[in-house]
Amino acid sequence: MTFIKEILVELEKLAPLPYQEDYDNAGLLVGSPDTEVAGILFTLDITEEVVDEAIRKHCNLIVAHHPIIFKGLKKLNGKNYIERTVMKAIKNDIALYATHTNLDHVVGGVNSQIARRLGLQNVRILAPKKQILTKLAFFCPVENTQNVLEALFEAGAGEIGEYRNCSFRSEGLGTFLPGENANPVTGTRGKLETAEEHRVEVMLPSHLQAQVLSALRRAHPYEEVAYYMSALENENQDVGAGAIGELPEAMDTAGFLTHLKDKMDASVIRYTEPTDRKIRRVAVCGGAGSFLLRNAISAGADAYVTADYKYHEFFDAERRIIICDIGHYESEVFTKNLLHEYISGKFSNFALCLSEISTNPVRYFS
Ligand SMILES: [Zn+2]
Repeated sequence: MTFIKEILVELEKLAPLPYQEDYDNAGLLVGSPDTEVAGILFTLDITEEVVDEAIRKHCNLIVAHHPIIFKGLKKLNGKNYIERTVMKAIKNDIALYATHTNLDHVVGGVNSQIARRLGLQNVRILAPKKQILTKLAFFCPVENTQNVLEALFEAGAGEIGEYRNCSFRSEGLGTFLPGENANPVTGTRGKLETAEEHRVEVMLPSHLQAQVLSALRRAHPYEEVAYYMSALENENQDVGAGAIGELPEAMDTAGFLTHLKDKMDASVIRYTEPTDRKIRRVAVCGGAGSFLLRNAISAGADAYVTADYKYHEFFDAERRIIICDIGHYESEVFTKNLLHEYISGKFSNFALCLSEISTNPVRYFS
């Protein structure tokens, strides 16, 4: 038996909820985490037809990219598609989950998927987020350092890019004077003690502070643990908006547009005037991405693949870069494949289905 909460743990390892934007509403939108999973349907959007598809395919959890409940929902009368979709899901015991801007912001998320389809190499985050890392420094008897560190690594500390178990230690003398009511592991009440200690430093994602701190308290031998937590200004290279990478070989504009149309299954590409360069370095951002144009230009991208560009925003290219708007749906539809593949690698005891419904509300007339 697998419960919805076990699926959520895996999804949130890939895309932790604290990485979503403030305005977003990612997470479990409908249903109880304690429900047993019968099957999961993966989709970009949740519509009434997608809920019908879940019913047909005996799936009781729909995992989507876009949250169907985005703004407040004050009444459920079925007066628009959002209310009708939510009502249908509740009536049929179907849970709804969305992994949205949190999935936009991680390596292995929406933008990695676009980069992968385009065959980009050396893919990295285009605009890494700042102020989401914390430094923990603590003091520990030298013989206990390794044990304590292992507990912290287990709790999620010490990961930097492709490296795990990262830490630094230096040796010195700690002093302490146990009070009347203290129960010191070493030393005597009322007597000044010195101990050979390590000062140990590790970095951790800020949203894991509570769990790392409780691991520290559990593993550390002292009654009172001396530590400092400090917020870091550093960028986290693994978390942020957009992605950038290089094509294996430079392409001319026409060749690149054909490649893009083909790989992303786009009916139409709206693009700006070609530059005098060939296209090698490509920045991408699924969904509305005009806010990252400066980052794309300063990272030296020859083309920027995104969606939802407005007329006046296209002028900002100024022949420094080619903006390619492939459509919001087209830029993100393969997110369902990414989620399907990811969960398929972890669970195999129930049906995992890809939605076959095109939820694109936009039609193209040509
Ligand atoms: Zn989107």
